[in-house]
Amino acid sequence: MATLPMTVPAPGLPARVRVHEVGPRDGLQNEQAVVPTEVKAEFIRRLAAAGLTTVEATSFVHPKWVPQLADAEQLYPLVSGLDTRLPVLVPNERGLDRALSLGARHVAVFASATESFAEANLNRTVDEALAMFTPVVARARDEGLTVRGYLSMCFGDPWEGPVPLEQVVRVCRALADMGCDELSLGDTIGVATPGHVQALIAALGEAGVPASTLAVHFHDTYGQALANTLAALQQGVTTVDASAGGLGGCPYAKSATGNLATEDLVWMLDGLGVETGVDLGLLTATSTWMADRLGRPSPSRTVRALSHKE
Ligand code: MG
Repeated sequence: MATLPMTVPAPGLPARVRVHEVGPRDGLQNEQAVVPTEVKAEFIRRLAAAGLTTVEATSFVHPKWVPQLADAEQLYPLVSGLDTRLPVLVPNERGLDRALSLGARHVAVFASATESFAEANLNRTVDEALAMFTPVVARARDEGLTVRGYLSMCFGDPWEGPVPLEQVVRVCRALADMGCDELSLGDTIGVATPGHVQALIAALGEAGVPASTLAVHFHDTYGQALANTLAALQQGVTTVDASAGGLGGCPYAKSATGNLATEDLVWMLDGLGVETGVDLGLLTATSTWMADRLGRPSPSRTVRALSHKE
């Protein structure tokens, strides 16, 4: 049995949060090692068994760009029977074709709030990327799929510095207008602080993009991910992205410790009495198992603390 925090609720928080687990996709995509397909499938099964109701499974980006996820076609059928939402990334219509042919029901496109990152990641301007996604989102919606829009560099950009709120609002508005059900605000290099988070969510609300349609995706580069998450929950956000064991860094942020660890998030939410449905003990055991497969310890503080005790 895992040690659990004492539950003491705080005012102004949602009763329940949906954790959008990104470890198998965002985590493994940014790991040096290429993990065997069966290990990925087992990872996803264990995450589902730990109570995660949304597990982003893989990406249908061209294998040339993301060799770590080149086995999407082999992996997806191994897990598609699970009773868990399994979103997949689709960069374009070809990617959507591949996802649809495997029966995917939840897809995500990925845009950038800044020109520099759009150029680096998509080889396009921000508006060219939005134009590329428009028919993808329209067709996905016609097929009855849910569509998430990721937005990178919402707070700071390694080339451009701080990102103006209105620039982020404009791209969010465009993604919402084209039909995205949910927008995930990415702090790709981890520079956000809580006031900035609340200011962005407030500005989006004023622009007609309510907190109920937002998710937050924080990186813990400067140790701010949990503080930023709490700030977002206080503004009405109820979906939080996190990566089991803190898997994955960001290739554009030097020494980035990467994604918010799901265990660190669940520890805080358990303590606050906010329901997630996640079993912290099973989740920690899963991340410890995965760390053994990767041959390096989990960077998650909670995984380390709980593993140390056992
Ligand atoms: Mg990430």
